[in-house]
Amino acid sequence: MYDINRIREDFPILGREVYGKPLVYLDNGATTQKPRCVVESIADEYYSVNANVHRGVHFLSQQATNLHEASRETVRRFINARSISEIVFTRGTTESINLVASTFADSQMKEGDEVIVSVMEHHSNIVSWQLQAARKGIRLRIIPMNDRGELLMDEYERLFSPKTKLVSVAHVSNVLGTINPVERIIEIAHAHGVPVLIDGAQSIPHLKVDVQALDADFYVFSGHKVYGPTGIGVLYGKENWLDKLPPYQGGGEMIQSVSFEKTTFNELPFKFEAGTPDYIGSTALAKALDYVSALGMDSIAAYEHELTVYATQRMKEIPGMRIFGEAEHKGGVISFLVGDIHHFDMGTLLDRLGIAVRTGHHCAEPLMRRLGIEGTVRASLGLYSTREEIDTLVAGIERVSKMFG
Ligand code: PMP
Repeated sequence: MYDINRIREDFPILGREVYGKPLVYLDNGATTQKPRCVVESIADEYYSVNANVHRGVHFLSQQATNLHEASRETVRRFINARSISEIVFTRGTTESINLVASTFADSQMKEGDEVIVSVMEHHSNIVSWQLQAARKGIRLRIIPMNDRGELLMDEYERLFSPKTKLVSVAHVSNVLGTINPVERIIEIAHAHGVPVLIDGAQSIPHLKVDVQALDADFYVFSGHKVYGPTGIGVLYGKENWLDKLPPYQGGGEMIQSVSFEKTTFNELPFKFEAGTPDYIGSTALAKALDYVSALGMDSIAAYEHELTVYATQRMKEIPGMRIFGEAEHKGGVISFLVGDIHHFDMGTLLDRLGIAVRTGHHCAEPLMRRLGIEGTVRASLGLYSTREEIDTLVAGIERVSKMFG
């Protein structure tokens, strides 16, 4: 069913060597590799369709527009949004969060109001709000976690007050792998009449997401983390919320009519898409979503779960191993340190063995402070990762450990 060898053939880069060693790519949390169909989509569209979308009467422009808008429908289907009006193309998770932070703070918040985030957020879901905090005098409230990396739900409930205007949390932590109980988080927020933004950067590639079943008010993700191209991402927003928010940027596409006296804005989702959109990227993103859909998100999740269990078990056999993030519900992210070996040394030496992992604070400095460390080594799995790669990683870590005595 899940033919890993055949799947790997779809990703040409996985066949390359680094330093004369077969590449073991375990940095999927940072970005994923691209299947042939995604790369070919980019070349094909530039070679045979390229023209600016929406405004052209000519054949190519209409064909490019059809591809771009069909991609919006593919995204809608993938996350089960109610309408394509709710699918805004952005540059990625970061831009999607900034768009909501800026327009929500401007239109829905006043000085003293509060946004709830969690201690395990990526900087993009902290700093975007801090910029608004500085501008509008709003405050951040932080959901704490236990030592296993699970959010403390009782503490979360206690953070609500009449000042709470939005909750913004990651579905899956990019450092700990924790799969947060977002259904419950949303339910509690809604009981207080507060909308919720879910940062889906680390969930979209690994879990089946249904925004209607979750009842998320906003859900954001990046194309490049789900086997699509860089430079494109998605903001899903419930229509009633997107309607309430003002435009984010001004320019072409987002207007209905412009005069020096009065400008009126376009309908959703175009109100939020100023300028020429990345129509080549949207088509390629749709190809990536079709690719993972054909494999089946449930099959991918099951395969990756089994591999995560195997990797965790193997890594725990290594003397001096400390794994950060042992939540009951956890995705394929393993952050670790061994003895007192610096994360940077471990990462650099693994690299010489052909093993690509990430080291450092992973854009989550507040989380590092909570853990009392400066950084970790992070191995993050993708749909094409294998047991053999885990074995190579474990052997590599053991070799580096021996070097450090
Ligand atoms: N949120 C999370 C949880 C992430 O892991 C990342 C990427 N590391 C981002 C946000 C930012 O994504 P991007 O850089 O694609 O905008």
